[in-house]
Amino acid sequence: MKLNERGLLIVLSGPSGVGKGTVRKALFDMEDHDLTYSVSMTTRPMREGEVDGVDYYFVSKEDFEKRISENGFLEYEQFFGNYYGTPRDKVEQQLDLGHEVVLEIEVQGALKVRNQVKDAVFIFLVPPSKKALKDRLISRGTEDDKTIDTRLAKAEKEFQLAHKYDYIVVNDDIYNAADRILAIIRAEHAKTERSIYKYKSIIEGDL
Ligand code: 5GP
Repeated sequence: MKLNERGLLIVLSGPSGVGKGTVRKALFDMEDHDLTYSVSMTTRPMREGEVDGVDYYFVSKEDFEKRISENGFLEYEQFFGNYYGTPRDKVEQQLDLGHEVVLEIEVQGALKVRNQVKDAVFIFLVPPSKKALKDRLISRGTEDDKTIDTRLAKAEKEFQLAHKYDYIVVNDDIYNAADRILAIIRAEHAKTERSIYKYKSIIEGDL
Protein backbone atom coordinates (compact mmCIF):
# COMPACT_ATOMS: atom_id res chain seq x y z
CA MET A 1 0.00 0.00 0.00
CA LYS A 2 1.23 3.48 -0.84
CA LEU A 3 1.64 5.78 2.12
CA ASN A 4 -0.76 8.32 0.67
CA GLU A 5 -3.56 5.75 0.42
CA ARG A 6 -3.80 5.70 4.18
CA GLY A 7 -6.97 7.18 5.66
CA LEU A 8 -7.13 10.68 7.01
CA LEU A 9 -7.17 11.24 10.76
CA ILE A 10 -9.45 14.11 11.77
CA VAL A 11 -9.26 15.45 15.30
CA LEU A 12 -12.25 17.42 16.49
CA SER A 13 -11.53 19.29 19.69
CA GLY A 14 -12.23 22.52 21.53
CA PRO A 15 -12.91 23.95 24.95
CA SER A 16 -14.90 22.13 27.57
CA GLY A 17 -18.63 22.54 26.98
CA VAL A 18 -18.46 23.85 23.41
CA GLY A 19 -20.61 21.00 22.07
CA LYS A 20 -18.04 18.71 20.47
CA GLY A 21 -20.16 15.62 21.07
CA THR A 22 -23.31 17.14 19.59
CA VAL A 23 -21.52 18.44 16.51
CA ARG A 24 -19.79 15.10 16.03
CA LYS A 25 -23.17 13.32 16.15
CA ALA A 26 -24.63 15.81 13.63
CA LEU A 27 -21.62 15.18 11.40
CA PHE A 28 -22.17 11.43 11.46
CA ASP A 29 -25.90 11.87 10.79
CA MET A 30 -25.13 13.71 7.58
CA GLU A 31 -25.40 11.87 4.31
CA ASP A 32 -22.67 11.52 1.79
CA HIS A 33 -19.67 10.86 3.96
CA ASP A 34 -17.57 7.85 4.77
CA LEU A 35 -16.28 8.64 8.22
CA THR A 36 -15.46 6.21 11.01
CA TYR A 37 -15.77 7.34 14.60
CA SER A 38 -13.07 6.24 17.00
CA VAL A 39 -14.94 5.15 20.13
CA SER A 40 -12.93 6.24 23.15
CA MET A 41 -12.37 4.30 26.33
CA THR A 42 -13.29 5.82 29.67
CA THR A 43 -13.51 5.03 33.37
CA ARG A 44 -16.34 7.47 33.97
CA PRO A 45 -19.73 5.97 34.86
CA MET A 46 -22.14 5.39 32.00
CA ARG A 47 -24.84 8.08 31.66
CA GLU A 48 -28.47 7.32 30.99
CA GLY A 49 -29.02 6.50 27.34
CA GLU A 50 -25.38 5.69 26.64
CA VAL A 51 -24.40 2.37 25.10
CA ASP A 52 -21.17 0.52 25.82
CA GLY A 53 -19.11 0.21 22.65
CA VAL A 54 -21.07 2.97 20.92
CA ASP A 55 -20.60 6.10 23.04
CA TYR A 56 -17.54 4.79 24.86
CA TYR A 57 -15.96 1.56 25.95
CA PHE A 58 -16.67 1.75 29.66
CA VAL A 59 -13.91 0.05 31.61
CA SER A 60 -12.55 -0.10 35.15
CA LYS A 61 -9.60 2.01 36.30
CA GLU A 62 -7.52 -1.18 36.54
CA ASP A 63 -8.25 -2.18 32.94
CA PHE A 64 -7.51 1.33 31.72
CA GLU A 65 -4.20 1.46 33.57
CA LYS A 66 -3.24 -1.97 32.24
CA ARG A 67 -3.80 -0.69 28.70
CA ILE A 68 -1.69 2.39 29.48
CA SER A 69 1.16 0.12 30.58
CA GLU A 70 0.86 -1.79 27.28
CA ASN A 71 1.13 1.46 25.27
CA GLY A 72 -2.41 0.80 24.08
CA PHE A 73 -3.49 4.44 23.69
CA LEU A 74 -2.72 6.93 20.97
CA GLU A 75 -3.36 9.47 23.71
CA TYR A 76 -5.14 9.54 27.03
CA GLU A 77 -5.99 12.16 29.63
CA GLN A 78 -7.50 12.45 33.06
CA PHE A 79 -10.51 14.72 32.96
CA PHE A 80 -12.36 15.57 36.17
CA GLY A 81 -11.10 12.47 37.92
CA ASN A 82 -11.73 9.99 35.10
CA TYR A 83 -9.55 8.57 32.38
CA TYR A 84 -10.40 9.07 28.70
CA GLY A 85 -8.29 7.59 25.92
CA THR A 86 -8.13 6.75 22.22
CA PRO A 87 -7.42 3.03 21.68
CA ARG A 88 -4.41 2.91 19.39
CA ASP A 89 -5.03 -0.42 17.61
CA LYS A 90 -8.49 0.43 16.27
CA VAL A 91 -7.41 3.80 14.90
CA GLU A 92 -4.36 2.28 13.19
CA GLN A 93 -6.44 -0.54 11.68
CA GLN A 94 -9.01 1.85 10.21
CA LEU A 95 -6.38 4.21 8.84
CA ASP A 96 -4.53 1.27 7.27
CA LEU A 97 -7.76 0.25 5.56
CA GLY A 98 -7.88 3.74 4.04
CA HIS A 99 -10.82 4.92 6.16
CA GLU A 100 -11.23 8.42 7.53
CA VAL A 101 -11.17 8.32 11.29
CA VAL A 102 -12.65 11.05 13.50
CA LEU A 103 -11.51 11.57 17.08
CA GLU A 104 -13.60 13.78 19.32
CA ILE A 105 -11.36 14.56 22.26
CA GLU A 106 -10.42 17.36 24.63
CA VAL A 107 -7.61 19.82 23.95
CA GLN A 108 -4.67 18.30 25.84
CA GLY A 109 -5.23 14.91 24.23
CA ALA A 110 -5.52 16.52 20.79
CA LEU A 111 -2.15 18.19 21.21
CA LYS A 112 -0.59 14.84 22.09
CA VAL A 113 -1.95 13.43 18.82
CA ARG A 114 -0.53 16.45 16.99
CA ASN A 115 2.95 15.43 18.10
CA GLN A 116 2.50 11.86 16.90
CA VAL A 117 0.47 12.00 13.69
CA LYS A 118 1.97 14.73 11.57
CA ASP A 119 -0.53 14.60 8.72
CA ALA A 120 -3.71 14.56 10.84
CA VAL A 121 -6.18 17.43 10.47
CA PHE A 122 -6.94 19.41 13.61
CA ILE A 123 -10.21 21.29 14.01
CA PHE A 124 -10.90 23.59 16.95
CA LEU A 125 -14.54 24.19 17.71
CA VAL A 126 -15.37 27.56 19.31
CA PRO A 127 -18.63 28.85 20.77
CA PRO A 128 -20.22 31.96 19.19
CA SER A 129 -19.20 33.79 22.41
CA LYS A 130 -17.83 33.00 25.85
CA LYS A 131 -21.22 33.93 27.29
CA ALA A 132 -22.83 31.29 25.06
CA LEU A 133 -20.40 28.72 26.46
CA LYS A 134 -21.30 29.64 30.02
CA ASP A 135 -25.05 29.59 29.27
CA ARG A 136 -24.67 26.20 27.64
CA LEU A 137 -22.89 24.69 30.64
CA ILE A 138 -25.54 26.10 32.98
CA SER A 139 -28.48 24.95 30.85
CA ARG A 140 -27.13 21.40 30.56
CA GLY A 141 -27.92 21.14 34.26
CA THR A 142 -25.59 18.18 34.67
CA GLU A 143 -23.05 19.99 36.86
CA ASP A 144 -23.11 22.03 40.05
CA ASP A 145 -21.86 25.66 40.22
CA LYS A 146 -18.40 24.68 41.38
CA THR A 147 -17.92 22.21 38.51
CA ILE A 148 -19.19 24.79 36.02
CA ASP A 149 -16.63 27.31 37.30
CA THR A 150 -13.87 24.70 37.03
CA ARG A 151 -14.92 23.86 33.46
CA LEU A 152 -15.01 27.55 32.51
CA ALA A 153 -11.55 28.11 33.96
CA LYS A 154 -10.30 25.09 32.00
CA ALA A 155 -12.02 26.38 28.85
CA GLU A 156 -10.31 29.74 29.28
CA LYS A 157 -6.89 28.05 29.17
CA GLU A 158 -7.94 25.91 26.21
CA PHE A 159 -8.92 28.96 24.15
CA GLN A 160 -5.28 30.02 24.32
CA LEU A 161 -4.30 26.87 22.40
CA ALA A 162 -6.53 27.50 19.37
CA HIS A 163 -3.57 28.74 17.30
CA LYS A 164 -2.08 25.23 17.33
CA TYR A 165 -4.95 23.91 15.18
CA ASP A 166 -5.36 23.83 11.40
CA TYR A 167 -8.94 25.08 11.34
CA ILE A 168 -11.35 26.92 13.61
CA VAL A 169 -15.06 26.24 13.27
CA VAL A 170 -17.70 28.23 15.14
CA ASN A 171 -20.51 26.24 16.70
CA ASP A 172 -23.26 28.80 16.11
CA ASP A 173 -25.56 26.03 14.90
CA ILE A 174 -24.72 22.33 15.09
CA TYR A 175 -25.70 21.58 11.49
CA ASN A 176 -23.77 24.56 10.11
CA ALA A 177 -20.76 23.51 12.15
CA ALA A 178 -21.03 19.90 10.89
CA ASP A 179 -21.37 21.19 7.32
CA ARG A 180 -18.20 23.28 7.66
CA ILE A 181 -16.31 20.30 9.02
CA LEU A 182 -17.37 18.18 6.05
CA ALA A 183 -16.23 20.97 3.71
CA ILE A 184 -12.84 21.01 5.45
CA ILE A 185 -12.48 17.25 5.07
CA ARG A 186 -13.31 17.47 1.35
CA ALA A 187 -10.83 20.30 0.86
CA GLU A 188 -8.14 18.32 2.68
CA HIS A 189 -8.68 15.46 0.25
CA ALA A 190 -8.16 17.75 -2.71
CA LYS A 191 -4.86 19.06 -1.36
CA THR A 192 -2.17 18.41 -3.92
CA GLU A 193 0.07 16.46 -1.57
CA ARG A 194 -2.78 14.06 -0.81
CA SER A 195 -4.31 13.75 -4.25
CA ILE A 196 -1.60 14.14 -6.89
CA TYR A 197 -0.88 10.41 -7.08
CA LYS A 198 -4.52 9.79 -8.08
CA TYR A 199 -4.22 12.14 -11.04
CA LYS A 200 -0.77 11.03 -12.12
CA SER A 201 -2.01 9.42 -15.35
CA ILE A 202 -3.91 12.58 -16.33
CA ILE A 203 -1.07 14.91 -15.44
CA GLU A 204 1.63 12.82 -17.06
CA GLY A 205 -0.43 11.27 -19.89
CA ASP A 206 -0.55 12.24 -23.57
CA LEU A 207 -3.09 14.57 -25.10
P1 5GP B 1 -17.85 13.41 28.62
O1 5GP B 1 -17.56 12.83 29.97
O2 5GP B 1 -18.72 14.64 28.70
O3 5GP B 1 -18.40 12.37 27.66
O4 5GP B 1 -16.47 13.87 27.98
C1 5GP B 1 -15.64 14.75 28.65
C2 5GP B 1 -14.55 15.24 27.71
O5 5GP B 1 -13.67 14.16 27.36
C3 5GP B 1 -15.07 15.82 26.40
O6 5GP B 1 -14.39 17.05 26.16
C4 5GP B 1 -14.67 14.79 25.36
O7 5GP B 1 -14.42 15.38 24.09
C5 5GP B 1 -13.38 14.27 25.97
N1 5GP B 1 -12.99 12.95 25.48
C6 5GP B 1 -13.76 11.93 25.06
N2 5GP B 1 -13.02 10.90 24.67
C7 5GP B 1 -11.72 11.26 24.83
C8 5GP B 1 -10.47 10.61 24.56
O8 5GP B 1 -10.38 9.48 24.11
N3 5GP B 1 -9.35 11.33 24.85
C9 5GP B 1 -9.38 12.59 25.35
N4 5GP B 1 -8.21 13.20 25.57
N5 5GP B 1 -10.55 13.22 25.61
C10 5GP B 1 -11.70 12.57 25.36
